[in-house]
Amino acid sequence: MIECMTVGDMIPTNSFFYIDDETKHGFLIDAGAEGGRLAAHAKEKGWTIERLLLTHCHFDHIGGVNDFLRHIPCPVYAAEDSPRYYADPRWNLSLWGGEAVTLSDVKTFADRETIALAANPKFTLDVRYSPGHTTDSCIFYSASDHAAFVGDTIFFASIGRTDFPGGNTQELWESIAREVFTLPPDTVLYSGHTEETTVAAEMARYRR
Ligand SMILES: [Zn+2]
Repeated sequence: MIECMTVGDMIPTNSFFYIDDETKHGFLIDAGAEGGRLAAHAKEKGWTIERLLLTHCHFDHIGGVNDFLRHIPCPVYAAEDSPRYYADPRWNLSLWGGEAVTLSDVKTFADRETIALAANPKFTLDVRYSPGHTTDSCIFYSASDHAAFVGDTIFFASIGRTDFPGGNTQELWESIAREVFTLPPDTVLYSGHTEETTVAAEMARYRR
């Protein structure tokens, strides 16, 4: 089951609960703000959040992490290049957002790593690094659910900004071609800021 919760008022950001129907265990993907509300929702539903996974460490994707962890302690994971972002308010843009945000105790997942649920090892997400919007951007792919959580790499009808620290337009297009457009066309793309779309719909837009 995939459930989207949009958090934050200045920059509304999508958080996704990716939950195994059988065990009610699962993952939370991004916690941009309102960590307490995200935690309350998980508790109300009776879900066990095994890990919090970050698509990248801009403040509007991590701003609710510390608050979430106060209510639901669980390990937090991000890409190998994430410390330069989560440890530095200039790089994660939180100074721009008004209140400095930093994280500690973030574990890393490798490119191509498969993250499995402890309660049901068949329930997995594949990590695919997709630098471009940031150097620590990645997507999480579920073949069984035909779904990919793509953060700010690609949106409905647009792609991520590349004018922030570590951004690179050419790298972003290479990542999209390599990691997104190689997925099955019916894969649903759940982005950080827009309505969902599909691989086929976005490929059609950029084909020339
Ligand atoms: Zn971002």
